[in-house]
Amino acid sequence: MDPATRSEARELLGAACATLREWVEEGLEGALPRETAPAPARVEPAAAPATQASLLERAPSGPRGSLDDVRAEMGECTRCGLCEGRTQIVFGDGNPDADLMFIGEGPGEQEDLRGLPFVGRAGELLTRMIEKGMELARQDVYICNIVKCRPPGNRTPLATEVSACRPFLDGQIDAVRPRVIVTLGKPASSLLLGRDIAITRVRGTWHEYRGIPVMPTFHPAFILRQYTAENRRLVWEDLKAALAKARAD
Ligand code: SF4
Repeated sequence: MDPATRSEARELLGAACATLREWVEEGLEGALPRETAPAPARVEPAAAPATQASLLERAPSGPRGSLDDVRAEMGECTRCGLCEGRTQIVFGDGNPDADLMFIGEGPGEQEDLRGLPFVGRAGELLTRMIEKGMELARQDVYICNIVKCRPPGNRTPLATEVSACRPFLDGQIDAVRPRVIVTLGKPASSLLLGRDIAITRVRGTWHEYRGIPVMPTFHPAFILRQYTAENRRLVWEDLKAALAKARAD
């Protein structure tokens, strides 16, 4: 198989897996053969390796570290198996003092190649939502993912991978201290809400993580797959609410 066909096949497989995950989330699990439904990431907090103690011990209200500190502590991280397939670590992008922080699931192919989060098709949609919808520059906000290395085939990160990477996400949140966090999709929303959620049920409702208001909404990749006027309206409602709260007071 030539490389272009292989890449297209991988993309199709990734999209099919994502659609299956959405069906599972919406309660259609019983309609699927069990072995074909990929297990959603279990994101309950787990013990992190001792090497991450300095980040874990930092209280949200404690002295503010910097993103550079977090990146330095990460180094050429090998704390989980995702290090094996990555081209490079995709740490985060944007304003270190942003009022708004967007958190997604993990880097995809383009992100892995370019070293930046949300620069593929879903990223272009997110950028349009930020720039055309919210009338902000992309560089005004901060964007990152719950895992910093690309999961093979764009699968959902495993619980162990999410747990291993979590101290770095917490470090980023504490460093930026945004006024509002927008979680994009089920894995990021489940992690910050501390339970396995159905994104269709919690999107548009306010929560809190490390003392910061959290607004869960759909992942832009979901919007691309289900490009309906209703889904776009719902995301826009969520983003407007997040922007209003970030600008309040
Ligand atoms: Fe380290 Fe996170 Fe990459 Fe795992 S995903 S290797 S914890 S940076």
